[in-house]
Amino acid sequence: MSSDREKDLEQIESEVQDLQASPLYQYRLESNYHPVIGEGDLHAKIMFIGEAPGKQEAKTGRPFVGAAGRTLDRLLASIGVEREQVYITNIVKDRPPENRDPRKDEIELYASFLRRQIEIIQPRVIATLGRFSMDFILDHFNMPEQGKRIGELHGQPLKAKASYGEIVVVPLYHPAAAIYNDQLLDTMERDFQVLKQFVEE
Ligand code: URA
Repeated sequence: MSSDREKDLEQIESEVQDLQASPLYQYRLESNYHPVIGEGDLHAKIMFIGEAPGKQEAKTGRPFVGAAGRTLDRLLASIGVEREQVYITNIVKDRPPENRDPRKDEIELYASFLRRQIEIIQPRVIATLGRFSMDFILDHFNMPEQGKRIGELHGQPLKAKASYGEIVVVPLYHPAAAIYNDQLLDTMERDFQVLKQFVEE
């Protein structure tokens, strides 16, 4: 029998499937792509939020399965975490063409689904991947760090107030940025150590 969380997420999936109002809907159909809703433990303590699916993700319907995903897996492994233990999603659920950044109107359109996912999964820790996701979450929880840059906030556990209680937000760089940048990868490995305390709690 499927749980309430599963049912609520399935409902989101069916709404996104049918999201003809999206500027990315037609492109999804023409390309034979899938929307990417998210995956992982529906009772996860940590939720990772990226930007939008890339090509591999849109082909498979799964988040972070391409090159950025391999970097993410490696970073998770560095703190002894398997991806099945966390929940991974994105702000925008459809792939923007040519790997361009998600646009403001796209973020606004898909944001309601992410907000619902946060309420369903109720993570104690939200790790944002990249500046779009960081800006969205700082704004969503009306955090005092709004407007600050990722260079200043990365790797810092920040307190936020969710509807279901106090949570911690950890801004992280986007793993795609570390693929060809060893220095950034080192920084990300150090930042991931901050997450370790929440896994072990
Ligand atoms: N980049 C993202 O932001 N999300 C994915 O799912 C893959 C790459």
